[in-house]
Amino acid sequence: MGAQQERRQKTKTGKTYLVSGKEKTVITADADSRKHFDVIVIGAGAAGLAAAIGAGRSGAKVLVLEQRPEPCKKLYATGNGRCNFANLSIRPEDYRGSGAGLALQLTEEYSVEKLRDFFASLGLMSKAMGAYIYPYNEQATAVAAALLSECHRLGVVIRTDEAAVDIIQKYRVVTKNGTYDAPCIIITVGGKASPTHGSDGNFNKVIRKLGHEILLQQPALVPLQFENKALSSLAGVRVKCAVTLSIEAGTFTEQGEVIFNKDNISGICVMQLSRYAVYALAEGKKPVLLLDLFPEISLEELQSSLEKSFAISDGKERSAKKALSMCVHEKVASLLLSLSGADENMPSCKLSRQQIDILASLAKAFPVEITGNCGFSRAQVTAGGVRCDQITDELESRLCPGIFFAGEVLDVDGTCGGYNLHFAFASGYKAGTESARICR
Ligand SMILES: Cc1cc2nc3c(=O)[nH]c(=O)nc-3n(C[C@H](O)[C@H](O)[C@H](O)COP(=O)(O)OP(=O)(O)OC[C@H]3O[C@@H](n4cnc5c(N)ncnc54)[C@H](O)[C@@H]3O)c2cc1C
Repeated sequence: MGAQQERRQKTKTGKTYLVSGKEKTVITADADSRKHFDVIVIGAGAAGLAAAIGAGRSGAKVLVLEQRPEPCKKLYATGNGRCNFANLSIRPEDYRGSGAGLALQLTEEYSVEKLRDFFASLGLMSKAMGAYIYPYNEQATAVAAALLSECHRLGVVIRTDEAAVDIIQKYRVVTKNGTYDAPCIIITVGGKASPTHGSDGNFNKVIRKLGHEILLQQPALVPLQFENKALSSLAGVRVKCAVTLSIEAGTFTEQGEVIFNKDNISGICVMQLSRYAVYALAEGKKPVLLLDLFPEISLEELQSSLEKSFAISDGKERSAKKALSMCVHEKVASLLLSLSGADENMPSCKLSRQQIDILASLAKAFPVEITGNCGFSRAQVTAGGVRCDQITDELESRLCPGIFFAGEVLDVDGTCGGYNLHFAFASGYKAGTESARICR
């Protein structure tokens, strides 16, 4: 090792290490800081803790490295603090990405019932609210506490404030404080969604260095932006409707509440469609959401209802806005009338049949041209990630045996409703048990 390639580094704890710039290996002056484990898990999120428990229950000596000051930070924010961790109904379309099939397979192997039993074995009761599964006390903190106490029981070492920055063959994990060795590494660093919770994508360069391809990562389950200033007048309005997105990949429709904001549109049904709109935008296309404000009735029925209601007089002539506001939110009524070219102050009974038909058509397919998305900071999940044909059904890398992946770092994104956490827990537990099986 040449003297010029060496430099002394002080860590937070004051230990001094010799670093070889050429070989990029860390040679510690303090034998304690290089520790040997059976399995090292990188990232203490939902997938990471499930992996640690899976490996620990199989008898492995496990280390978890977490770059944030505390583990499972994101878990606390899930389901508005209530943690919707599974769903009684799983359809093929609930998982997307190159690992959609793998996700279906794993969530069948580690079914909703098994996941609830797993949590019950940790002392956590759960309940179904509709098809959505929550902890019984509706507190995400309880899920985190259950996972952490099982890690504690199993003797899993969790080192926080310790980001993994490299993996050296075969296998040494490098952090700013030292190195840790293990025959098996499980990478559960998440994607890029909600980086304030720790998933920042910084570990991607190491994953790529291992030879893995990371498919384009995009925000998913994210509000969608529009530039049409007229739509800003709807800020604060919530509308129950059916939303359709037509793109080359197909036509997707969701029903539920849409929330208009100054420059974006959100609500669960919009979030569900967002990943398709986001990819369409990335391909240079101009996706349009069509909102059906009267999903329960046909266009013809709406035309005839509007015609009748516009003809009604309460002694004096009612304005078109007043008449339409009896059917839709008044801000929506104003916008629909303006888009149809009608004056909102004109007497409703003076609207022509043609104007009523235009209004009805607009209300059945109200267009919102999408021009962007609110980014990873507002996204609940990441679409894209590690290409799933590069890993086995046991979640082991086909390129680097002994390296496993689980959770959102993989190219799998689920819809809203507990699918992402179910996948994170199922894949984490699977990677943990499989790694423990081969590591000794
Ligand atoms: C606001 C919000 C609400 C959500 N609600 C739900 C819900 O109700 N139901 C549902 O199913 N899904 C929900 N999700 C999605 C779900 O939380 C994620 O899909 C899931 O947490 C992914 O788990 P993960 O362990 O793969 O990744 P993450 O939870 O992102 O964990 C990755 C961990 O790795 C750590 N890390 C990253 N890089 C390094 C490194 N180099 N070294 C060490 N540590 C590192 C990070 O700090 C982080 O702790 C929600 C997401 C958000 C943001």
